Amino acid sequence: MTQTCSICKSNDSKHFRYYVGDLEKQLTRLKYSYFYKLLNFTNTLTKSKLSFINNTLYYYDHVLDSFFKGDIIHCLNCKHGYWNCPPSDEILNFYYKFGYRNIIPLATIRIPYFKYVIGKISNLFNYNVVIGLRYLRNIIYKYPKWSSRPVNQIDFVISDLKNFDKRELLLLEIGGSVCQPLRLLREKLIGKLVNIDCVEPDKQYKQRYLRENINLVSEYFPFKCTKQYDYIHTSHWLEHVVDWKITLRDIREILCENGLLFIEVPNANNIDSLKGDHSEIPHIHFFSATSLKLCLQNLGYDIVRMEVKEGVIKALSRKSTINFCSNA
Ligand SMILES: [Zn+2]
Repeated sequence: MTQTCSICKSNDSKHFRYYVGDLEKQLTRLKYSYFYKLLNFTNTLTKSKLSFINNTLYYYDHVLDSFFKGDIIHCLNCKHGYWNCPPSDEILNFYYKFGYRNIIPLATIRIPYFKYVIGKISNLFNYNVVIGLRYLRNIIYKYPKWSSRPVNQIDFVISDLKNFDKRELLLLEIGGSVCQPLRLLREKLIGKLVNIDCVEPDKQYKQRYLRENINLVSEYFPFKCTKQYDYIHTSHWLEHVVDWKITLRDIREILCENGLLFIEVPNANNIDSLKGDHSEIPHIHFFSATSLKLCLQNLGYDIVRMEVKEGVIKALSRKSTINFCSNA
């Protein structure tokens, strides 16, 4: 079966079975832990609570069903891989809202013991207690305020942000969780007024956003937006979207003239990375530096700089000044 690459139009491709490893086991555990958690909070079972539980179980069954189909099609020319049978948008939305952040701690075995215990405790208490325990952990273990990933990302882009010829900047992070990169940027951009917007499906960060002065604009992208952003930050997000063309087109529409887009994705340039275990967080796209560059150029972005290092690809691009018309 030949497949035409949506990026470079080559017909040369290879198929790999999408390997999901222990995801099935993890999702099943999550389904029941979530179910019991709901029951605990349900002293009196009202009709609406029951229907909510039923809906939740219904969705988990569909998540389970839909994660185990299809292949990864790997283009032999631009080295891009994509999952040819991803779950529907509806299922993915549900998964990122209720499953994704809960699956990561289950799948990560390398985490230090203390962090693991905190993870377990955090399921039992409310979020403010968790934050308190995290501060305590950070003091005991002398954790740096910022982790290395956001530090590297901001080092990569800061010079271009300093060069913006205005005092007030509007920034957006998509899939931001705690928005470390943009908070770090706000700290580093001395003399500029930095406003941070964020798109995040997981409700657990809501209190944190209020405290950190971050404006949650939507649970999902795209969203109804009348603003124009100076800078949009996406870290390990683009590989999760179903349609890269629509996504990059929609991002371009909310970037202001000369606006910047930062993308970091895992480097899936070699075939071994496609055969690996994707159970932790199922990816839909597997970018190579070549394929990411082509995607950006095809959708009206000029590459400012790219870097491939330590298993990730970083790309900073600028909305092209050419009047761009997408057929995507
Ligand atoms: Zn290709």
